[in-house]
Amino acid sequence: MNGTESEGQSKMSGAEKEEQRKMSSAEKEEQRGMSSAEKEEQRGMSGVKKEEQRGKCGAEREKQDKESGCERAHLEELVRLAFAAQKRSYSPYSGFATGAALEAADGRVFLGCNIENAAYSPTNCAERTAFFKAVSEGVRAFRRIAVVGGYPGRPGDYCAPCGVCRQVMAEFCDVDTFEIILARGPRDYKIVRLAELLPLHFGPEDLGAQAAPLSAE
Ligand SMILES: [Zn+2]
Repeated sequence: MNGTESEGQSKMSGAEKEEQRKMSSAEKEEQRGMSSAEKEEQRGMSGVKKEEQRGKCGAEREKQDKESGCERAHLEELVRLAFAAQKRSYSPYSGFATGAALEAADGRVFLGCNIENAAYSPTNCAERTAFFKAVSEGVRAFRRIAVVGGYPGRPGDYCAPCGVCRQVMAEFCDVDTFEIILARGPRDYKIVRLAELLPLHFGPEDLGAQAAPLSAE
């Protein structure tokens, strides 16, 4: 038995070495792809080229970023902020509390909670609260939003934005790149793009207008 196990281990270790060799060359390749010189070059690239770059290999690069611990910690922090915002929910009628943390392109984060009203229709969702706070501060470019919701004290589920909030997002965000992080906990979340939640959207371009400029200034 020992001999067989040992042989098995030796085979495993050979296979592992092979895998490590592949891994290490893949890592080198990745490092070459992400060298600081190239990053510098990307920073200097025109908006058009950046757009092209995103189209060609953006998904792959973003996947790498998602897998990095740094990115994960950043997303977890955003989710924690959404849960903190949820605590401020004013929802005496439904009892359903939601929170959102909206990350602007400049890195600032705007928080929002749902705010209900006795007349019902003036009620505002957490996502729109966050967006309207940001826009009223002159911010119109965004990367992502973390959204949480549920009945306090009960196990929650992913809480997707309502249709109205999706429409507000489409006014200010690139539907293909804007990320919506649906979270049940800081380490339990999934990321979807706005285009997945709002396909064939109606936006500023349909009225011949440009998408929201980067700054209100
Ligand atoms: Zn909503």
